[in-house]
Amino acid sequence: RAKRDGRNRYQFYDPSLDAAARRRNLIENELALAVSQGALELRFQPLVSTRDGDILGAEALVRWTHSQLGPISPAEFIPIAEETGMIISIGAWVIREACRVAAEWPPHLRVAVNLSSRQFLSPGLLPLVENALKTSGLAPERLELEVTESLLMDSTLGLEHTIAALRNLGLRIALDDFGTGFSSLSYLRRYTFDKIKIDQSFISDIETNREGRAIVESVIHLAHDLNMVVVAEGIETEAQRDVLKGLGCSQLQGFLLGKPMTAIDFEVAAKRTPILRALPRL
Ligand code: C2E
Ligand code: MG
Ligand code: MG
Ligand code: MG
Repeated sequence: RAKRDGRNRYQFYDPSLDAAARRRNLIENELALAVSQGALELRFQPLVSTRDGDILGAEALVRWTHSQLGPISPAEFIPIAEETGMIISIGAWVIREACRVAAEWPPHLRVAVNLSSRQFLSPGLLPLVENALKTSGLAPERLELEVTESLLMDSTLGLEHTIAALRNLGLRIALDDFGTGFSSLSYLRRYTFDKIKIDQSFISDIETNREGRAIVESVIHLAHDLNMVVVAEGIETEAQRDVLKGLGCSQLQGFLLGKPMTAIDFEVAAKRTPILRALPRL
């Protein structure tokens, strides 16, 4: 094995690389069956109001447990699905299922669904969303679609149009993982979002990282000036929650507030919080 020259490393036999390649192939093949066999499930992670801790809704997160491989993270299989095109059918299932489930919840609760780039760029997206809303009876205001900066980076054509068409249906668009891309600020100028979600990487060290905290504070002010709701992702400690509260962040999400859970558990959790106020802005 070549130890010194990193560039040539992969010309040599590497059993671990081989295992990784085999796992990838297996996942790729099995993924094709996952949707049709009903092997995918959704979990719902609470989105919470900073002010009073009320649950405002949930983000739907896809889960896949393979019979031999066990649970496989979406962070692993979504990029593979994206590459192979499987994301179109997986994504369609996620949208339909999330709408179907959320339509059963009390009407003040919203649901957020992640979209990958390929899915966002597919011409079938708009009719799919319209149909999922119609079939489920979910009011469009209760649906939020999360897109990431990589989507905006990858492509140039027609995105404004797609975002506008979706917003015209009455649903909301959130910019996920904000701050992890290359030109977050220029995207805010170019596209209209209803919400931004500040990435967990800015939150995890917010107590100790003075610069990071200053950036988050500015982003919160900027978002409010642009009429957007701000969510902080990945809140794990009370100290982090308190900092974000002090900075005026409107919504929180993270293990401290609630882990991803089944739809039934989510409904139970949401019912425990007193929420019969006016419909909050998501
Ligand atoms: P995301 O959309 O940014 O979702 C948040 C991720 O952070 C979730 O991981 C969630 O479980 C995790 N998380 C939430 N709070 C905490 C916390 O306090 N601490 C830590 N350490 N993690 C926290 P998950 O479910 O593994 O999903 C990973 C990513 O996979 C998602 O990131 C999203 O980009 C993608 N993904 C998940 N479900 C879907 C889906 O249905 N469609 C698409 N296209 N992508 C999905
Ligand atoms: Mg998300
Ligand atoms: Mg995120
Ligand atoms: Mg993420």
